[in-house]
Amino acid sequence: MIGLFDLSAEVTQRFVGVLTVSPAFENAPGERHVLALSGGKDSAALAVYLRDEYPDLRTEYVFTDSGYELPETYEYLARIEAVLDIRVMRLKSRRNFDWWLKYYGGVLPTPTSRWCTRHLKLAPYLAYLGDGPVFSYVAIRADEDREGYRATRENISPVHPFVEHGIVFQDVIRILEESGLGLPGYYSWRQRSGCYFCFFQTDDEWRGLRQHHPRLFARACSYEENHDDGRLFTWRENGPLSELPTTGDVGKSALAAVGRPTRKLSWALREAGSVADSSAILKAETEEADEPGTEP
Ligand code: SF4
Repeated sequence: MIGLFDLSAEVTQRFVGVLTVSPAFENAPGERHVLALSGGKDSAALAVYLRDEYPDLRTEYVFTDSGYELPETYEYLARIEAVLDIRVMRLKSRRNFDWWLKYYGGVLPTPTSRWCTRHLKLAPYLAYLGDGPVFSYVAIRADEDREGYRATRENISPVHPFVEHGIVFQDVIRILEESGLGLPGYYSWRQRSGCYFCFFQTDDEWRGLRQHHPRLFARACSYEENHDDGRLFTWRENGPLSELPTTGDVGKSALAAVGRPTRKLSWALREAGSVADSSAILKAETEEADEPGTEP
């Protein structure tokens, strides 16, 4: 395990003195410990980390399924269950995206109006957490500059083990590699888990969706076209998917999720291919990466 003293001076300065070690990590009567897996690498690594470092902790593993996830996400969850010998509880909203889309008059969600996150991700998760004391484990790394989900209820205590213990990107990759989990299959062309039509995608990720899942891409297109009153709402800021340029990179932005795209890392990912063999990535130099909008 890497401690705070192993961190760079800059990162250490940011966290030492600000954080105290959480009172979590032990079972107390009436308290629950919940780790929400997003289908991404960091939360998967946190599941491994908790199993290895706190084997006696009675952790509940959950995945909030929007109902519109990538096939690779479901595959990765099944792999997590098999490799770690755990059960991941699937949570789902009672009403699906299509129902909510109608409710919002056909206006697709955007980064500034994330009703999808609220209804499809947060609401089922909060319902699952309930009203009793619960520690909610969040996989933000020590080298990330973001706060993540802020609990709005007093009974929920967010815990950030990677921040508290100085776990950075390279540690996450190593944890996944050593556990045999590796990276999710979509990492060669897309940077984050979530709905296949997620508006946070860059153009090269959309091209990745079109290349790897043409039917899902077609469905994403149909959401832009099928409005009763003829209005057109688009997933992309710069025009409908039908106008997505055919030329351009595929998956370049996925590199950003595993570190800024240094030449070595680009090479490593090309070598890794669609299976995203993390051992190749381990050998590459990386820099701090930011994963925007990680789901709970
Ligand atoms: S993954 Fe994207 S589209 Fe899906 S709920 Fe989250 S923000 Fe919305």
